[in-house]
Amino acid sequence: MLNLSVLLEDSVRRYPDRDALVLREQRQSYAELNRQANKIANLLVARGVKPGDKVALSCPNLIEFPTVYYGILKAGAVVVPLNILLKGREVAYHLNDSQARAYFCFEGGPDLPIGEYGHDGFRDAHGCTDMFLLTADPHAPSPIAGVETAAQAIAGMSGEFETVVRQPTDTAVILYTSGTTGQPKGAELTHSNMVLNALSANRLLDSTPTQLDVCLVTLPLFHSFGQTISMNSALCVGSTLVLIPRFEAAAALAVMERENVTVFAGVPTMYWALLGALEGRNADADVDKISRNMRKAISGGAALPVEILTQFKTKFGVQILEGYGLSETSPLALFSDPEQDPRPGSIGRPVWGVEARLVDQNWNTISGEGQVGEIALRGHNVMKGYYNRPDATNEVIDNGWFRTGDLARVDEDGFYYIVDRAKDLIVRGGFNVYPREIEEVLMTHASVSLAAVVGLPDERHGEEVKAFVILAPSAQVTEDELITWSKAQMASYKYPRRIEFVAALPMTATGKILKRELVRVEAAH
Ligand code: AMP
Repeated sequence: MLNLSVLLEDSVRRYPDRDALVLREQRQSYAELNRQANKIANLLVARGVKPGDKVALSCPNLIEFPTVYYGILKAGAVVVPLNILLKGREVAYHLNDSQARAYFCFEGGPDLPIGEYGHDGFRDAHGCTDMFLLTADPHAPSPIAGVETAAQAIAGMSGEFETVVRQPTDTAVILYTSGTTGQPKGAELTHSNMVLNALSANRLLDSTPTQLDVCLVTLPLFHSFGQTISMNSALCVGSTLVLIPRFEAAAALAVMERENVTVFAGVPTMYWALLGALEGRNADADVDKISRNMRKAISGGAALPVEILTQFKTKFGVQILEGYGLSETSPLALFSDPEQDPRPGSIGRPVWGVEARLVDQNWNTISGEGQVGEIALRGHNVMKGYYNRPDATNEVIDNGWFRTGDLARVDEDGFYYIVDRAKDLIVRGGFNVYPREIEEVLMTHASVSLAAVVGLPDERHGEEVKAFVILAPSAQVTEDELITWSKAQMASYKYPRRIEFVAALPMTATGKILKRELVRVEAAH
């Protein structure tokens, strides 16, 4: 049966003593990971969680993430991973929208901020009856009165559990993404979507159980890229995952060297930071130790500048392979397969079992070399739909084809090149920022009459968030005050770092704000 938790269990049977997870000095074998996940599954069943119920999880890249993720799946429930940077208000929205029945929330630790993981969102979540705190020290008492820690809750639970096997077409995971409109929507990914995508990734990475890869996990596991490529695809072949809760380039290089990392997957800004961190160190000796083991480097999530690809190849002797996908496509859809002579600047060709074509607004196929169209995808990786949103689903899925909102062209050999994003998505440091959501929050401020948010090119983060604001009559607020206020309303990767007060915004005849014009004027400054 194509079941996500069975993928892990297969490795547990074959390699019980192999290290599954490494975090600093902590090492956890496949057998122990399975035992802990079984305890979580027993806990959920004891609390009345039924197959198909939703269970939310907010946790950085710690051992608890895979443990709870697989525990939820074993119980036959659906995992709803949340972005760890969400504030209470946003967490409440996600818990309510997904109809989460239970919530696991990390509460901070020695080098991770305490109390910033949105546990207070639980208060306003209507159907969510159980919250379990994940604490850095499992023996520590609960930091919040009346809320139990997951460690306390599983203390008496058995480490044995018979997995509740779901159908391949049943939902395994709901990943929140905004798509083309403002409010985040839950992309429902089935067991079949997730399993086949993980296996497809293995094939492209040539990962086999005998290889014993050591994968550095710097991508957040709550996001589809980290979840499928760094976690599921690695665990199902018995690789070792070396977890990094917070990416910091110099520390990542040190871990690569210490743990003999063979596979690195990251967003372009991580590659940029790794190259930067080499400067000022005994670069040749360091690189030598790292590149001796490094077998594969994968980039995705945003366009990889060719300059970074070239420099990385020169320094580490490894060609970064670029992949493309979305939360809605599990995510892997296209990949620059090394066997197909990858072309710099290209996202490659559709992966096994996935078809791609370029379409216009009306789903007509655009053909002809060099023609630009929107990428549409069909295959085993395309989501079931947006949870409880048939209209939004129908807007993007037609006859099995999913329209991505990304504009691309294709060359004569079938290699795709991203040209632009049709949607207004801003990708800041690998995180998606949706302008409309920021605009709506800004406009709740008494001094703001109208706001337009755009992404501007930024060397460090790829893009930076800037808001153009028309103030309400006689408003007195300053740019700094409004930035500080925004910071308190939303996750740190979202709030605008720059706000410009303007008297008017460029608009079309129908009143739509011409964002590209704002970006163009800014660039001309
Ligand atoms: P998400 O749903 O968070 O995975 O974001 C998906 C979006 O990331 C896509 O619609 C693209 O706009 C962008 N993206 C992903 N991979 C690439 C890539 N290799 N090059 C350019 N943009 C990408």
